[in-house]
Amino acid sequence: MDKRDYYDILGLQRGVAEGEIKRAYRKLAVQFHPDKNPGDQTAEEKFKEATEAYEILKDPQKRAAYDQYGHAAFSQGGGGGGFGGFDISDALRAFMRDFGGGGGGFGDIFDEMLGGGGGGRSRRGGPRKGHDLRITLPLTIEDIAAGVSKKLKIQRLVRCERCDGSGAEPGYTPEKCPTCHGAGEVRRVSRSFFGQFVSVSACPTCNGDGQIVIHKCSECRGEGVVSGVTTISVKIPAGVSAGNYIPVSGAGHIGSHGGPAGDAIVMIEEKPHDIFTRQGDDLICEIPISFSQAALGDQIAVPTLNGDHQLKIPPGAQSGKVFRLKNKGIPHLRGLGKGDQLVRLVVWTPTKLSAEEKVLFKKLSTMSGTQPPKADKSFFDKLRETLGV
Ligand SMILES: [Zn+2]
Ligand SMILES: [Zn+2]
Repeated sequence: MDKRDYYDILGLQRGVAEGEIKRAYRKLAVQFHPDKNPGDQTAEEKFKEATEAYEILKDPQKRAAYDQYGHAAFSQGGGGGGFGGFDISDALRAFMRDFGGGGGGFGDIFDEMLGGGGGGRSRRGGPRKGHDLRITLPLTIEDIAAGVSKKLKIQRLVRCERCDGSGAEPGYTPEKCPTCHGAGEVRRVSRSFFGQFVSVSACPTCNGDGQIVIHKCSECRGEGVVSGVTTISVKIPAGVSAGNYIPVSGAGHIGSHGGPAGDAIVMIEEKPHDIFTRQGDDLICEIPISFSQAALGDQIAVPTLNGDHQLKIPPGAQSGKVFRLKNKGIPHLRGLGKGDQLVRLVVWTPTKLSAEEKVLFKKLSTMSGTQPPKADKSFFDKLRETLGV
C-alpha cells in the first residue's frame, strides 16, 4: 500500500505555516484518539497516520527533506534519519508530548503507556489523576447489621478558586518556560560511531509542565490547589467487616493540571460492642445467671440486635452451656440469610453473703445432690455433651 501524502493526511496545502500544521494535527488527533474510539482499528490507523505526518512536517529539517524527496526521504537507505516502526505507543507519546498539557484529559492513557516500562522518555506535566484518599470509618455492630448511609467530612486538596487552578495570580497567566520553550522536556544530542542519539528528559526549570508561574496566586502560592473540607455520603451494605472498603469515585484529591480527582477509599472498622463479639457473621454473648436459676431452670430475657429474646433455661443447666439463636446474627454480605447468635451461660458466684445466706449455703452444701461428680474423663465427656460444644 502506498503511503498517503503527509499534507493530504492533515488536509493542508504545501507551504502552510508551521502553526497551521499543529492546529490541523491537533484537530485530527483529538477526533481519532484511541481514548475516544475504543476498539476502533480505523480510528487508530488514522491517529497513527496523522501523528506520523505531524512528526515529519513540524520539524523544519524533516519537512524540507520530505518536500524535496517525498516519502523516499525517510525510507531505508534514503538518509535523513529513518522513521520506521512508528507504532501506536509512539503516536500517543508524541501527541501527549505536544498537547498533553492542555487539559485534553488523556493523562491516564499516557500514564499507562509509560507505566508499562515504556522507553527512556520522561513524561511531561500533562493532566494527572489526583491521589486517592483513605478514610477509616468505625461502625457499630448495629450499623453493620442494618446497613447504613453515612455522611463523612473529609479534608482533601481541591482546585484553588482564586486562580481556578492555574497557580497564577488573577490578571496574570502562567508563562511559557524559557528553558524548554513550553515543550516540558529538554533534548540532548550526542554523536557516536553509530550515529546521532537524542536523549530527552523532563525540563528542570518547569518540572515538565512547559510553563512557569511568575506571579503566584496569593491563596495557593502557585500550587493551584488548596486544602478544603467536603462532605461525602457513603452507603454501607449490611454485613461488611473490618478490612472491607468502599471506593467513592472522584472524592479524592484533585488531579494536577486539570486531571480528574482520585477516589476516596472508605475503610471499614468495627467498634467494640458492650455485649456482643463478632465471629464471622455470628454474634457471641455471655449471660450471667444465678446458682438457683441454673439449678431450677428459668426463663430469661437475652438481648439481641432486634430487642430481647426470651430464652428458656432448663433445670440443671451447666455454666458454659451455649444456646444457638438462629438468624439473630449479622446478615451475610454476599447471598441471603444471616448468622446466628450464640448465648453462653455463665453461672455467677456471689461474692458477698449475708449471715442468713451463709447459713443456707452451708445447709445446701451438706446435701449430696449439690455436690459435683468426680472430675474424671466420663465427667468431662458428659459435661461437653450438656454444654453442646
Ligand atoms: Zn490559587
Ligand atoms: Zn521548561
